[in-house]
Amino acid sequence: MSETVKYVLPESEIPKTWYNIAADLPTPPPPVLHPGTHQPIGPDDLAAIFPMSLIAQEVSTEREIEIPGPVREIYRQWRPAPLFRARRLEHALGTPARIFYKYEGVSPAGSHKPNTAVAQAFYNKDAGISRITTETGAGQWGSALAFSGALFGIEIDVYMVRVSFEQKPYRRALMESYGARCVPSPSEETEAGREILARDPDSRGSLGIAISEAVEQAAKRADTNYALGSVLNHVLLHQTVIGLVAMRQMDMADVYPDVIIGCTGGGSNFAGIAFPYIGEKLRGGRDVRIIAVEPAACPTLTRGRYAYDFGDTAHLTPLVKMHTLGSTFVPPGFHSGGLRYHGMAPLVSHLQELGLITSTAFKQIEVFAAGVQFARAEGILPAPEANHAVKAVIDEAIRCRVDGVPRTILFNLCGHGHFDMQAYMDYFAGRLEDRAYDEAELAMALAGLPSIAA
Ligand SMILES: *Cc1c(COP(=O)(O)O)cnc(C)c1O
Repeated sequence: MSETVKYVLPESEIPKTWYNIAADLPTPPPPVLHPGTHQPIGPDDLAAIFPMSLIAQEVSTEREIEIPGPVREIYRQWRPAPLFRARRLEHALGTPARIFYKYEGVSPAGSHKPNTAVAQAFYNKDAGISRITTETGAGQWGSALAFSGALFGIEIDVYMVRVSFEQKPYRRALMESYGARCVPSPSEETEAGREILARDPDSRGSLGIAISEAVEQAAKRADTNYALGSVLNHVLLHQTVIGLVAMRQMDMADVYPDVIIGCTGGGSNFAGIAFPYIGEKLRGGRDVRIIAVEPAACPTLTRGRYAYDFGDTAHLTPLVKMHTLGSTFVPPGFHSGGLRYHGMAPLVSHLQELGLITSTAFKQIEVFAAGVQFARAEGILPAPEANHAVKAVIDEAIRCRVDGVPRTILFNLCGHGHFDMQAYMDYFAGRLEDRAYDEAELAMALAGLPSIAA
């Protein structure tokens, strides 16, 4: 039996600033456009649903942005999160690779999401907001924001994709335990929801639809704002606390990664682990291979188009240039609710266009097999989303065995799977299917992309 190898830092090492990659990009990402005029938007266009402090972060090009004291104080509950070396997995694979993982499942909600939820709740409270609406897929984001709302005394309304609402009653119970209200989406509460239900009374919902409902509600009331759990620049910014500390911990281990791997739904946990390293490389530091891993059933980076698109189904959001499958695309049912979004963070998309990251996709059965192999060696049962990263890590470690090169692999274990046991039960019972998405539906969704003059 190998010993446990764990790198911990004292609370005093929680970063005082987040890292903003916009400061180091060789070219800035394309501007965000107004959905009506197709002209670049200004801060006022977003003020109905976001506090000015977050809008300022969204467009900032300053490299370091201060983490407010009260946010750092809450981070202390679970940060700095530990970094482990996966010694037992290395042995099981018989690989010379050195595998390290940053573990974000230690937060109260069980994933990386509270890193930004706490910050967003803080800035909204500071702006006098008393209610926040949001969407959630698998329920990870909804529970992170519900937790943060409870801390700051903010009412939280969560529109939860109906299929997840029905499949995942425990995530819903967690949100309600924190005091949030959880509504299956599409719902009768909004125009966007009613319109979808009129066309398709059995709609299983999608993140795009749930976002429309949450944004519509936030735009209606002055005391209400909207919060998004991924995709936006300020969300990715907040997640850099993951990578900033992982860098210090890798220093403690006296290694530098050759390969960094993260799963991508909207891109935030991936950005969290990778952006500080990409920044170092852009400032003349060492080269690192960086791999984003997504589900083959929702292949945004590997099969999507890099184009301007809406963030939601009802087209209430601004237009952003990103890798997209089309805002009306509904992925087939598979067990990684957090990876079912039609688009990808504009910053992550831009980095792929610049050749600074690569991407790959896996099917769900092979992904669960990897997660179970990881759990049997390391004891932590990953969230189904994280299993995508684990699959890529195991493949890379096996390549190291074949070519005899002891590469150092770092990945983000972005959450635990304790609320996802139904998915694991389905996997063990042989009930999981590798469903391909509907090619015709994808073509239709892509054909419906807004046309924007170049
Ligand atoms: C939400 C979530 C994801 C997907 O979102 P990203 O913004 O791509 O990180 C992945 N893993 C877990 C555990 C999540 O909760």
